[in-house]
Order: sequence, then C-alpha cells, then structure tokens
Amino acid sequence: MAADAHRRAVFLDRDGTINIEKDYLYRIEDFQFIPGAPEAIRRFKEAGFLVIVVSNQSGVGRGYYSEDDVDRLHCHIQQELAAYGTCIDAFYFCPHHPQQGEGAYRIDCDCRKGEPGMLLQAAGEHGIDLAQSWMVGDKLADLEAGERAGCRTILVLTGYGERTRSKLGPQAEQVCCAEDLAQASSMIYPAPR
Ligand SMILES: [Mg+2]
Ligand SMILES: [Zn+2]
Repeated sequence: MAADAHRRAVFLDRDGTINIEKDYLYRIEDFQFIPGAPEAIRRFKEAGFLVIVVSNQSGVGRGYYSEDDVDRLHCHIQQELAAYGTCIDAFYFCPHHPQQGEGAYRIDCDCRKGEPGMLLQAAGEHGIDLAQSWMVGDKLADLEAGERAGCRTILVLTGYGERTRSKLGPQAEQVCCAEDLAQASSMIYPAPR
C-alpha cells in the first residue's frame, strides 16, 4: 500500500446495487435507479468517501455491446446524479470473460470480480486505504472481491441479493446485509480520525 493511501472509498457494484438489474443492460432507456440510491451516493460523498463503481461487464466480451456503450451509459448515470447534486468519482469495469469472451476478451483476467483487481487498481490511482473502505454489491463475487482487497463488505438484497443470501446457507450469519443501498449508507460511517 502506498504511503499516501489515506482516502476512504465505497466501492459499488452497479447492476442490482445502484440500478435495477436487467441482464446485460447497456441501453440508456433501460437504466433505472433503485429508489434511494442517488441519495445514498450523495450521503457517502458527504461523509468524505470516494464513490467508485466496479462492474463486471462481460456483455462486452460476449459481443452484446461495446466498451463505448458502457462509457455512454456511465455518462448518463453522471448526468442523472447531477440532478441530485452528486456524482461517481470513477468507474471501472471488466469487459472480459474467461470462457464466453470473444477474441482478446477471452482471458482469465484479474479484474473480473471475485478477483480484487479493479479495487486494487482504483486504490493505486486514487490513494485509497482499502482497510478503511467498503465494497457493496448483490453477488458473491462482489463480496469476494471486497474481502480479497481487504475491505469491509455489505450484501444488498436488491438485484440478485436475495438469491445470493439464500445460496450462502449457514454462512449468511457472518455476512453483513442491507435491504438496499439506502440502508447500506446508514450502516457505513467514517471511522474516527
Ligand atoms: Mg450486481
Ligand atoms: Zn477483466
């Protein structure tokens, strides 16, 4: 960890956490915030956290849509958040898939969550103290990526969250769950300096 890594971040999964899960979402007209999500993002930033989206977008690698489509959707999200007086500090996405990717996208990368690659990259680029940071998402891969990066994690029950919790079995006891991102935001407080 770099000596100047002092910022706290909330890493957010995108689909099913910020916006309503629609498989392989890329069309702007299909984008819809989960109620309370923009306010939660604003709240994180008001508390001094960087808010960073880390998203698996294997739809790119599968040839369903392009990296430009992903960028366009992220611009749209920023525009929508501006109406709430907030924004995302950075977006990272993994376009790969180890079996279903086409051409150069078919690799066993270190950015696809459960791997922690996107969080580690963001930490390096933004001076983030991962031990003071959180990962919030609706899938096991989100929790794994967060844990492996050394963050605390919250499972939201939106998107695939309910399904994820039921798959955990008795292990679910140890997982910190929130109904949605709004509730997650009230569980996360900046540690005293
Ligand atoms: Mg998700
Ligand atoms: Zn990747």
